[in-house]
Amino acid sequence: MLERPDSKAIDRKSRIAMPSTVIEKQDPDVRIHNFDEVYLPFDEESAKAAAGRCMQCPAQACIKACPVHNDIPLALWHIENGEFADAARIFRMTSTLPEICGRVCPQVLLCEGACPHVKKGNTPVPVGRLEAFVSDYLRRSEGLPVERQPATGHRVAVVGAGPAGLTVAELLSKKGHSVTVFEAQPASGGVMRYGIPTFKMDHGLIDEKTEYLEQLGVGFVYETMIGEDPSVDDLFDQGFEAVFLGVGAGVGADFEVPGVDLDGVYDATPFLIQSNVKERDRPSHLNEPAKVGSRVVVIGGGDTAMDCVRTSVRLGAEDVTCVYRRTEAEMPGNVRDRQMAKEEGVAFRWLTQPLRFVGNDEGRVVAMECIEMQLGEPDESGRRRPIPIEGSEFTMPVETVILALGYWPDPLMGKTTPELETHSWGLITIQDEETGATSRRGVFAGGDIVLGPALVVRAVAHGRRAAEGIHRFLTGSDGQAN
Ligand code: SF4
Repeated sequence: MLERPDSKAIDRKSRIAMPSTVIEKQDPDVRIHNFDEVYLPFDEESAKAAAGRCMQCPAQACIKACPVHNDIPLALWHIENGEFADAARIFRMTSTLPEICGRVCPQVLLCEGACPHVKKGNTPVPVGRLEAFVSDYLRRSEGLPVERQPATGHRVAVVGAGPAGLTVAELLSKKGHSVTVFEAQPASGGVMRYGIPTFKMDHGLIDEKTEYLEQLGVGFVYETMIGEDPSVDDLFDQGFEAVFLGVGAGVGADFEVPGVDLDGVYDATPFLIQSNVKERDRPSHLNEPAKVGSRVVVIGGGDTAMDCVRTSVRLGAEDVTCVYRRTEAEMPGNVRDRQMAKEEGVAFRWLTQPLRFVGNDEGRVVAMECIEMQLGEPDESGRRRPIPIEGSEFTMPVETVILALGYWPDPLMGKTTPELETHSWGLITIQDEETGATSRRGVFAGGDIVLGPALVVRAVAHGRRAAEGIHRFLTGSDGQAN
């Protein structure tokens, strides 16, 4: 490993003047015909040049902005010097999923948004793509070390194979604990496989991660929903000493308008699963591949809505429109995804609220009645409230509608687990922010079931703190008798 450079020795003036990095992507005319990753990988020289724009600022704002606090300047220094494997090891010190976070984090809001190049009107150092590049480089060149401490004899159940659960499984297995992951779906990954499309992140990365965890000794039990039968109590009865709940928040929000049950109106999650997940990994009731008509409307403004419009384009729809009830300024999703959707031909209809879906004699959706909106005073979310404009109703023809209106947690776990405190809509209450411990002794939680729908990297951060908390709990170093 290289020493951290003296920031005073870095010529910041010349680095700030360096030309912005161009991140190569598939051309929009090409990529709309495939489901491959849109971003193309760096070659070694362009990675070095991109990292060489880092000014090694003493303030390290990027580290603070990263939810897992990756040591970004030190990793970039290694990349600049061609030490790609060591750079990857630096990311791996603080993150269990650098190859995935590098691809799916909304970097504009996190590490890259804090880069001082942005203040100067330049593009930031492309931290995410570099993180993905070196993580791929390490796995391809050396593989990941399969190193475990001696077996402790302690048994841990992880419920949910999403980013938080996989993080807990990896870190506890490395400490010598016996870990079994229970997952309701037929394969691992949670939201990473069953929510994020392959054109943003190759699902093979999740397969590789899962194989690595299996080499570390982690056991996986698929198609097993923990909650009612078996319950969390049953897991303790089976001899598990601690349970981590990382079940996500994957229940689609209701949309109660007439016609929502017509054929051709889909919820976002099944639609994304049927179009992006390999058949072998789909639950049996979603075996059929998704089909869209030539006119598709996606309702919603977040990341899932962008995933659905871009998937629809790739499935061959000719006219894809995102309908959102506020303006672009209030849209919550990643701005880069929205930009790419525009490049791919997606149209946007702002300040529009659907009122009902209209079907034909066969019960298939053929039109959508809408009303135009205007923005009023801010609501409890701080965003200006959309208000209908009387008399502005209009009808648009549609063949397929996809509802991407957000997600809620499944309240099952709170209902079936004695002494487990929950709050708003079933989110699990954390009693100890340092460890992720819940009100039920021996039960820890993290990720979307605690936060509500959030970022993969925040779930990783939760998994890291819970792994440490569970380790201390198992070994009695938390000061309490186990
Ligand atoms: Fe940036 Fe996300 Fe990587 Fe942190 S994990 S350095 S926020 S891309």
